[in-house]
Amino acid sequence: MNTHLTSSKIWLFDVDKTLYPPNNGLFQEGNKRINRYLEKHLQLDPSAVNSLRKEYMEKYGTSLLGSIKEKGLDGNDFLHYVHSFPLNQYLTPQPLLLSFLDNLPGKKYIFSNAPQKYISEILSIVGVQSVFTKIYGIQSFRFHGKPHVSSYKRILHWIGAKPQHCILVDDMKINCDIAIQLGLQAIWIDENQRYNDYYTEILIPCLAQFLSTQEWELH
Ligand SMILES: [Mg+2]
Repeated sequence: MNTHLTSSKIWLFDVDKTLYPPNNGLFQEGNKRINRYLEKHLQLDPSAVNSLRKEYMEKYGTSLLGSIKEKGLDGNDFLHYVHSFPLNQYLTPQPLLLSFLDNLPGKKYIFSNAPQKYISEILSIVGVQSVFTKIYGIQSFRFHGKPHVSSYKRILHWIGAKPQHCILVDDMKINCDIAIQLGLQAIWIDENQRYNDYYTEILIPCLAQFLSTQEWELH
């Protein structure tokens, strides 16, 4: 193995539904809280909130950015409300994931549309915080996160990396598609897959399969 080449690879990990299972209730709780926040602050009924969120997702990539741009809502207040609930009810330590990520060649960063404090708490409960060199949450991008091209360009600039050296790991296809358009590689962790054990049946095998196809690993 050419260690120089392997160590030059840089991993950009999403968090929500990538570093934990999509069906464990955590993301769904956050989603409910977004709806409640918008119902309250925009005085809308649930069906109006659903259609507004759909519109904002298409136009701005996130409900958060649409709410800031079109309704003047306070982004930090929005994030605080949506992410303030006990995360340890949904997550457990994952020593196997820690061991796998520890052995993955190259630096690892978090590139997420979630706020930094929430990300840190998730990493800490899952037990993988030591793996990541730095966390880039949504505030780092002034709320313009993925799939905005500017967020990819910013993170590449901050970490001093060329697109061809980076691999995005994300559950949203649009985020992976934009990464590939910009010259990064991407691993799509498909949220629609059904499985019993997320880490051993989906996430780790997806990463391992990707590694096995990489010429840089085999040189
Ligand atoms: Mg995600």
